[in-house]
Amino acid sequence: MSHSVATQERTSVRISTRFLLAVASLLFLAALSLTAQPTTAPALPILHSDHGPNSVAAQRAPYVVLVSLDGFRWDYAARDHAENLLRLGRDGVWAPDGMLPSYPSLTFPNHLSLITGLYPEHHGIVANSFLDPARAAAGKPDAYSIRDQQAVTDGSWYSGVPLWSLAESQGMRTACLFWPGSEAKIASERPSEYLRFDDHIDESLRVDQVVRWLREPPATRPHFITVYFSDADHAGHAYGPDAPQTRAAIHHLDQLIGQLRHALAATGLPIDLVVVSDHGMVQTDDKWVTLSDYADLTGFQTDGPLLYGNTEADRQRVYDQLKHASDKFQVYRLRNLPAALHFNQNPRAGDPVVIPTGPYAIRARAPQGGKPDRPPVVGSHGYNPLTMPQMKASFFAAGPEIRPGSRVAPFENVNLYPWIAHMLGLSLPLAAPPLDGKLNILSGTLRDNGETAAPRAQEQAH
Ligand SMILES: [Zn+2]
Ligand SMILES: [Zn+2]
Repeated sequence: MSHSVATQERTSVRISTRFLLAVASLLFLAALSLTAQPTTAPALPILHSDHGPNSVAAQRAPYVVLVSLDGFRWDYAARDHAENLLRLGRDGVWAPDGMLPSYPSLTFPNHLSLITGLYPEHHGIVANSFLDPARAAAGKPDAYSIRDQQAVTDGSWYSGVPLWSLAESQGMRTACLFWPGSEAKIASERPSEYLRFDDHIDESLRVDQVVRWLREPPATRPHFITVYFSDADHAGHAYGPDAPQTRAAIHHLDQLIGQLRHALAATGLPIDLVVVSDHGMVQTDDKWVTLSDYADLTGFQTDGPLLYGNTEADRQRVYDQLKHASDKFQVYRLRNLPAALHFNQNPRAGDPVVIPTGPYAIRARAPQGGKPDRPPVVGSHGYNPLTMPQMKASFFAAGPEIRPGSRVAPFENVNLYPWIAHMLGLSLPLAAPPLDGKLNILSGTLRDNGETAAPRAQEQAH
């Protein structure tokens, strides 16, 4: 070997070493930037419930990540080219004409319907704020409001078995990065991990936390995870469903879904990602409709638009006074509400019950005691989804349990519960109240057509 060749070789070795070092340090930096947030971000204030590890059967189950995009109207994704959501739908299932929220199309009633498979009259959260005459009669706190931490965390307000409680009762761990009701003990269970609601928690940190949970060892790794994002609802209320700010929120959320999907794929776990919303949004009429302008509400307690008469005579009087008072609402005695609304059985809804006929802001009374009377918000929801298509919600999902390229016609959101329970291999709750949701509505979107019996269900059948 001549001297020059040896030099050349040494040089090329040196270059390639340098090159490899450069590549290695680039890879190291790339890895660092990928993991930077999870390792350096402050740990979220997670609360833990005292649950054991996943059962052997639960460890063999797939994973479901359930995402709520509050107020993400059914047509937003196609309208604004939310590519990540549309791709999720193509890879699995999509409801191109929307999913039907339960009445009233409000946030808490519908998150509870999604998670319990029950209409609001059955799970008991009939509005974001309401009174309970039976609790009042029993001397218990009788006012529920989503702003009242005491009420929200008190499990005695809630009926039904949330999916996390169903899973925990069958030896499967769960985690909630927000979901209405997840801070309360319902059906004797809480999620293994959950947080007090704090909408200031950065959204990328929420995505990171989901991934962190999925990187836990198999014994503690939650198989059912919820995560919640409020942007579309906030923008829709403040600026209206068609505003540029709302469209910006839609794009931002779509990016987050892309980020989440990428991160879920990187875990290598069999994860079904389900993205839903609770309701849609409509531009609100700019004038209040105040029921006390039409009826004498003496003898009534009120909460927002809800009316609670002290006596049967009071209730009938106000019903008669409101009956032909305005074309902006219809009024019913509670027991006579149209069956399709599934809203005539729970006294928490008040009596009589006023149903808006359009996007009207209805309240029982104007603010009292010198409080300022502000105009209604620009966008709102809560209306009848059967007569107002803007109330319809979104539904996209994909994963190993779901048949790619599935499309479904509008369906009631209570039907998601048995569908998700089936994917997780959970048997349905045996205790009353009976489920309002049915597996056969969505079973055609499942690879097994919903035909594989859950192991525990078989045991119970014997
Ligand atoms: Zn909402
Ligand atoms: Zn809202």
